[in-house]
Amino acid sequence: MKNIIIFGAPGSGKGTYSDEIVKKYGMGHISTGDVLRAEIKGGTELGKIAKGYIDNGQLIPDELMIDILAKTYDAIPKGKGVIFDGFPRTIDQAEALKVMLKDRGDDMGMMIELVVGEDVLMERLLKRAVEQGRADDNEETIKKRFEVYRTQTAPLAAWFEKEGIRHIVEWTGNKETTLDKVFAVIENA
Ligand code: AMP
Repeated sequence: MKNIIIFGAPGSGKGTYSDEIVKKYGMGHISTGDVLRAEIKGGTELGKIAKGYIDNGQLIPDELMIDILAKTYDAIPKGKGVIFDGFPRTIDQAEALKVMLKDRGDDMGMMIELVVGEDVLMERLLKRAVEQGRADDNEETIKKRFEVYRTQTAPLAAWFEKEGIRHIVEWTGNKETTLDKVFAVIENA
């Protein structure tokens, strides 16, 4: 199984679709957001640093994030491929991921970009705020995260295009049919 980079704006469904892909194909899963939230919960030094950025809707600095990613990757089973969920979010992170995987005799596999309108994203994130109580799911922070996505992360799509591994899946208005499109990309890539 090829590695998968799942890419998209906050609320686009990266975590949800990653869980479905893991269920179907038994791959490894790295969610950098989950790794950081676990560090915060555990009260670690890293968690204390990360909290300041996350609560403000900002990205954790690249150098720190790349180091966390490599440690997480090296610690998980990789036989069935790995889904990278929430990483990379900057061009520097993408370049670092490419090199890290190459050094380990592996590659990025495919990138799946989830495209969803901003009105739907906002609605989902506000709903998640009520259901899951994530500290960064409030309207002000969500707007900042959209801005960070537009300026720092969205330009990466063109980087993946150049790498020849970008696949776009548009939200159909329905989870099941969108998921079918995600599976079709995986089966045909
Ligand atoms: P997520 O759960 O993927 O939405 O991530 C929640 C927050 O964690 C983001 O808004 C960032 O503050 C931080 N974060 C997660 N992944 C990264 C990353 N690859 N680079 C920088 N910050 C990240």
